[in-house]
Amino acid sequence: QTAPVITIDGPSGAGKGTISAMLADRLGWHFLDSGAIYRVLAVASLHHQIDAQDELGLVPLASGLDVSFETQSGSSRIILEGEDVTDSIRTEEVGAVASQVASLPRVREALLRRQRAFRDDPGLVADGRDMGTVVFPSAEAKIFLTASAEERATRRYKQLKDKGLDVSIERLLTDIQARDERDINRSVAPLMPAGDALVLDSTQMSISQVLDTVMKFVEDRL
Ligand code: C5P
Repeated sequence: QTAPVITIDGPSGAGKGTISAMLADRLGWHFLDSGAIYRVLAVASLHHQIDAQDELGLVPLASGLDVSFETQSGSSRIILEGEDVTDSIRTEEVGAVASQVASLPRVREALLRRQRAFRDDPGLVADGRDMGTVVFPSAEAKIFLTASAEERATRRYKQLKDKGLDVSIERLLTDIQARDERDINRSVAPLMPAGDALVLDSTQMSISQVLDTVMKFVEDRL
């Protein structure tokens, strides 16, 4: 008997990260941030000077990726080759490289087993683009969380502003649209809702409204 899985997929900035973490916390389940794995691979490729389009060079790096997810005094940290990359993987630049390496079929294949290993008792909440379609097709509950590109750019702008970073909202919107385009149009594991997913547009919803809706949907299926 395998542990139950809830998948939350959708474009960047739709609130998946926040909702998935809150859901995992509420249920006391494990949490997989699959985007972080692609981001860590992007950083590793920069360290090892492997081009983001060099599929053959990236596959061994992906299979042997020396990454661990740790909890240190209540905060979760991501360690790559002994270095704490928790904050450095979150930049727009790393996100752009991540979406390039993520478009390579053999790289995705090489990361499958690592992602599936997160499935463990009492359950897993998996956040990404293809959690419900490719990585955990048999998941108990699948959610596809989206929001308009403008709303996602605005949310990201506020986040960065709160961190004291000065960014242009137009630039963020262009970046988000470029990333959506790449994620939606790639040949392997494109960004799309699973046939059996609850599609939720959070453009006009607060975090607590989204969480309530998701909780109700999940409770019905477990
Ligand atoms: O979610 P996040 O923005 O951290 O993901 C970074 C990039 O990794 C995405 O733009 C996407 O291209 C890729 N990704 C993916 N499949 C996943 C998670 C992320 O292709 N399951």
